[in-house]
Amino acid sequence: MKAVVFHKPSDVRVENVPDPSIEEPTDAIVRVTATAICGSDLHIYNGFFPQPKPMVLGHEFMGIVEEVGSGVTKLRKGDRVVVPFPIACGSCFFCHHALPGHCERSNPKHYGPEGGVVESKGGALFGYTDLYGGYNGGQAELVRVPYADVGPRKVPDGLTDEQVLFTTDILPTGWTAIEWAELKGGETVAVLGCGPVGLMAMKCAWLRGAGRVIGVDREEYRLQKAREIAKAETINVEKTDAVEAIRSMTNGRGADVCVDAVGMEAHRTLLDKASNVVHGQVGSISALKLAFSAVRRGGVVTVVGVYGVPYDNFPFGQFFDKGLKLVAGQAPAHNFVDQLLQLIQEGKLRADDVITHRLPLSRAPHGYEVFNKKLEDCVKVVLQP
Ligand code: NAD
Ligand code: ZN
Ligand code: ZN
Repeated sequence: MKAVVFHKPSDVRVENVPDPSIEEPTDAIVRVTATAICGSDLHIYNGFFPQPKPMVLGHEFMGIVEEVGSGVTKLRKGDRVVVPFPIACGSCFFCHHALPGHCERSNPKHYGPEGGVVESKGGALFGYTDLYGGYNGGQAELVRVPYADVGPRKVPDGLTDEQVLFTTDILPTGWTAIEWAELKGGETVAVLGCGPVGLMAMKCAWLRGAGRVIGVDREEYRLQKAREIAKAETINVEKTDAVEAIRSMTNGRGADVCVDAVGMEAHRTLLDKASNVVHGQVGSISALKLAFSAVRRGGVVTVVGVYGVPYDNFPFGQFFDKGLKLVAGQAPAHNFVDQLLQLIQEGKLRADDVITHRLPLSRAPHGYEVFNKKLEDCVKVVLQP
């Protein structure tokens, strides 16, 4: 079959690889009908998360069940499914605690309680490096889906691939960013990053009762997207002091909720890059620092942007003095897929309006390039195998 194979940073190729097969009775094989490139794929593409040997990428995908193992009871050949990006067994301690991203079984080689270091990662993710389980991903014609009774959800009739594809990742991630903030209604929510995840968070903030939604980015075309599809007020960090702007919009206090949908690949100055080398750090916590300053005292910061390593100069004194609440991590996508599919079906939520590029799988390298470099006003790339 054809698949998008990561070789080394900036080098992904569409190649012929062996078809996947059923390895465990609980596996299914899915024929992929649509898949997307995620901001998290860029961390591998840009070398922030190492992957020493070739691997099929992709953790946002959907398709038709081609084959099921003897232990699969909920799916059969021909079912049309979306597949959430974490691989979770459904029966371990963390799966029972609705924390699928922390599944104790799916990543036996590199799982550990410490976290954040090479030998201690969380549960597995599709197509997301050996450290996250070493499973091939869904930017391919076929994909092996472990624990097929746990992740995949059947797609309600009448919905197109594009309408539901993002229930696998960016939509539940945006939802999670708002869920964690426990809105009561009327809050001002500032979302840092108007990429696909930030845009989803803005849409979800409105649905959950926000009174005001502010999008922050450095790319004018993405701010325009935030105004158009997420009805956000916007701030360009390159042109305006975002902290001052948010304070002046909120009686000098700051936003009730700040979402970090940027992560460690925030834009870095030359000085930041030099400091990375000196401190042996990867990426930057500048977006998190912006969130701490832009949120009001007693407010909530939720972090869905990905961070990889320890960081010095973490502003703990500010965090303490302001009495902030901070929640971060992988989105527990499994918990929200059903609800999100229903909201889409009822016409209360749409996610497909982030798509700017529809490409055949064979053009994936171009898709990676334009998404990474923000060329051609790219916001979201969907690939069709
Ligand atoms: P993206 O890279 O397209 O979006 C990031 C946006 O941040 C870009 O628009 C960029 O211009 C903007 N940005 C960069 N520096 C900034 C700054 N200093 N201030 C404000 N904006 C800045 O990616 P995405 O797909 O939207 O993903 C965003 C983050 O969410 C990534 O880190 C990704 O890995 C992560 N993610 C996490 C989960 C999860 O489960 N927690 C799931 C999906 C994606
Ligand atoms: Zn993702
Ligand atoms: Zn589990």
